[in-house]
Amino acid sequence: MVKERKCRMCGRPFIPNKYRPNQDVCSSIECQYQRQLNNMKKWRNKNPNYFRYKEAGNKSWKETCRERSLEWRKRHQEYLKLYREAHKERHRQYMREYMKKYRIQKEEQQKEKKTDNKEIS
Ligand SMILES: [Zn+2]
Repeated sequence: MVKERKCRMCGRPFIPNKYRPNQDVCSSIECQYQRQLNNMKKWRNKNPNYFRYKEAGNKSWKETCRERSLEWRKRHQEYLKLYREAHKERHRQYMREYMKKYRIQKEEQQKEKKTDNKEIS
């Protein structure tokens, strides 16, 4: 029988992947992203000189900064893409509701306009 585990990030119970029995983070995008960030932090703590070495090369500080923020943006965009994919259906529904409300509002405004005209004439 598969044993349920509690996610280290969100605390929700989940069933670990059978290929990764030691998995301690659920498969939600948010938690996976957080896990990645934590891994990065851990890696940076273990390799504190990595960026310093890079900076000591012929690249300027500014360039290194730019590269790093580009890297971050790339990673972040990948996350956003995943997030959007996962929420596409929800977003579609939201837009449908939004347009419905918008149309009703418009119709009501038009009705008001007509009654206004009647009052004038
Ligand atoms: Zn989780």
